[in-house]
Amino acid sequence: MRNLVCLQRVQWQEKCGESDGNKMVIKGRLAIREIDPYRCTGCGVCVQSCMNDVIRMKRGKAVIVYQEDCGACFACEMDCPREAISFGFVSES
Ligand code: SF4
Ligand code: SF4
Repeated sequence: MRNLVCLQRVQWQEKCGESDGNKMVIKGRLAIREIDPYRCTGCGVCVQSCMNDVIRMKRGKAVIVYQEDCGACFACEMDCPREAISFGFVSES
């Protein structure tokens, strides 16, 4: 189930990035963009879920430390019990 969701979203991202027929222009790539500190309870599940070591715990909250390494697999989002993690298109650096 997890792989199916990831595949669908990546395909959507690539389709939107190439499309000019509907005037939709999206620059950048899909990646983790924010962890809501008010929703985050500091359980650390997302840190364990991320195989790319994107998220770390700081002062009892999860924070994004290596956004450029995010592969948009959505494991952290699906495992977070508080729905604190959100995604968006981020510019390539
Ligand atoms: S899984 Fe959710 S609640 Fe737990 S540390 Fe990560 S962002 Fe916070
Ligand atoms: S989407 Fe995947 S790679 Fe990106 S931060 Fe979450 S678990 Fe890590």
